[in-house]
Amino acid sequence: MKLFTVPVTCPVCGTSFKGHVLAEYHVEGYTLDFKPLFENGEKLLKYFIWFCPACHYAGYDNRFSFGKNSVSLEPAFIEAVMKLPKKSPAPLPYRFYRAGEIGELMGEKGVALMDYFLKSYWAAKDMKKKEWVKKSSQRILELAEQIYEEAGESEDLFIALYLAGTIYYEQGNMEEAAFQFSRMMRIKTIPTQYEKQIKFALDFLKGHKNEG
Ligand SMILES: [Zn+2]
Repeated sequence: MKLFTVPVTCPVCGTSFKGHVLAEYHVEGYTLDFKPLFENGEKLLKYFIWFCPACHYAGYDNRFSFGKNSVSLEPAFIEAVMKLPKKSPAPLPYRFYRAGEIGELMGEKGVALMDYFLKSYWAAKDMKKKEWVKKSSQRILELAEQIYEEAGESEDLFIALYLAGTIYYEQGNMEEAAFQFSRMMRIKTIPTQYEKQIKFALDFLKGHKNEG
């Protein structure tokens, strides 16, 4: 793993800070909820986000000005970002959560938008921050429902329903978990690379049926 920093300017408030750039890192596998497992158990999630320490504007590198990447934002958008509630200190789950809120203001949708809240969820679970697990879970469930309403049969729909099922499962809501996994299993073309997840859902559904 290699880590270096670049000078970054926040396009919302003009503050300069150092942004981390991660290179040559290796992912050994994924957990059931798709969290990447880094080589040697490295905790690298924190390097996946840039966060302005002054105004809390957050996101991936393309949302910021650095090197040849110049970002300029509309005044109305800047005002909307400034109005988002701020938390201090700013733990990692909050940073990803905020990147998601900003993504929403930018009109991002679907699994791309869910990705920020999912990273918030992974970080919150790692750090055992229950409040953030709850907050990020809620957003993932809402977005999953939205994807179900709007997306049609797709890999995105599979991911959304699977995550909704696992989140309900972790919350101990087995009826809802079964409902989401059943929806997921009705998708006609299930992507084959998700064998582990499909097995988990099927085993759960089998057990759930026997108990019911
Ligand atoms: Zn800023």
